[in-house]
Amino acid sequence: MKINTIQCKTLLTKSRLPEADYCINPYVGCLHACVYCYARFMRRFTGHDEPWGYFLDVKINAPEILARELTRKPKRGVVLLGSVTDAYQPVEQKYRLTRAILEILLQHDFPVSVLTKSNLVVRDLDLFKQFSKCEVGLTITTTDQKIARNFEPHSSIPQQRIKALEILHRDGITTYAFIGPILPELTDLETIFAAIQGKVNFIMAESLNMKCGNRQDIQDVLRKKYPSHLSLYQSGFDKKYWDKIEKQLRALSKKFNISLKGFYRH
Ligand code: SF4
Repeated sequence: MKINTIQCKTLLTKSRLPEADYCINPYVGCLHACVYCYARFMRRFTGHDEPWGYFLDVKINAPEILARELTRKPKRGVVLLGSVTDAYQPVEQKYRLTRAILEILLQHDFPVSVLTKSNLVVRDLDLFKQFSKCEVGLTITTTDQKIARNFEPHSSIPQQRIKALEILHRDGITTYAFIGPILPELTDLETIFAAIQGKVNFIMAESLNMKCGNRQDIQDVLRKKYPSHLSLYQSGFDKKYWDKIEKQLRALSKKFNISLKGFYRH
């Protein structure tokens, strides 16, 4: 595992995602090393030849650059923290870049949206409370610790993420569970809904995308840990399959009274 500090030239970038106007990624790479991660294309753009999940560049001057960018008074808009990395890397405890970035966004009254797989996010509860608009999401692809370890080897275990949702929600923060990617025949949607009930304001979900350079890694895990599912994943999932999942999501949303804000399909 390689961790470098780097100097960035820009930080605040325009977002093409529907829920955000800007993105901020305080790190390059992600040590959470999720097997299905779509952000692995970042290797190409950043000249890394290490496998995804084995390198991390720490943008050590990120707060300084953001402060400078905000003095130019960009249009106020929602900033998503972590679109191609997780803003709560294990080393965030040491570098505190995400925290410093939140402090600056707060000074400028920019709304924030955070999506993470780390319970370290709870550290910044005091800041979230001060934002006029803020939402915090934790990704929950499964509540099964073994499945999580096989596909998300270095992030907080699902129970820690659910606990983080509970703490944040109890303190009045708008929270959501991001159920994605849904791993066919492995993600148990009903168990997830039951586990997050009363801890989130809404959920978002996403289908599995196997067209982003992750196919081989996913199949390797299946071959080793879930061989009976391998041929299913090899044959792929058509529109009909995801229609069925969407129907199930809508039924569960009704049953557990948790609003389904979006289901993103690939
Ligand atoms: S936490 Fe997010 S960015 Fe990091 S490896 Fe997992 S999916 Fe990719």
